[in-house]
Amino acid sequence: MSIITAASRPSVFRGLDYFEEKKVLSWSQIDDFKYEGYVSGSGKEPYFVTIDIEHPKRSVCNCPHAKGTRRVCKHKVALFFTVFPKEAEDFRKAIEEEKRRKEEEEEQLYDDIENYVNGLSVEQLRIQLINFMIELEEQDDDLWE
Ligand SMILES: [Zn+2]
Repeated sequence: MSIITAASRPSVFRGLDYFEEKKVLSWSQIDDFKYEGYVSGSGKEPYFVTIDIEHPKRSVCNCPHAKGTRRVCKHKVALFFTVFPKEAEDFRKAIEEEKRRKEEEEEQLYDDIENYVNGLSVEQLRIQLINFMIELEEQDDDLWE
């Protein structure tokens, strides 16, 4: 488990924003696995954050979201990305790759549908349309049951 996989998806994205907006004001290394730093957030004072990259759940932040819990908040993620910028780059690349793949899949799906419909005769189209409309009608009914 890493800081990234221990955090919720929204926290990772917000943490990436914080990293890019340079909200980590200062940081230092404590030992082989621990880092601490100050991260500015929505509160007046910056939050004091400690991350443990070996045991992400032992990381600490005094923001309202994470205080007293084992939750990995955006401040911990921001500190992690600041200490390891390569991780931020890899994460961003993975997100872009995922987006590209999804777009390709969608395009492929549209092509497949278009090819399928273009290959149907008028009679087949009539039958498919009737079936489709009946299915749609039944789906609406299901909502009321
Ligand atoms: Zn926090």
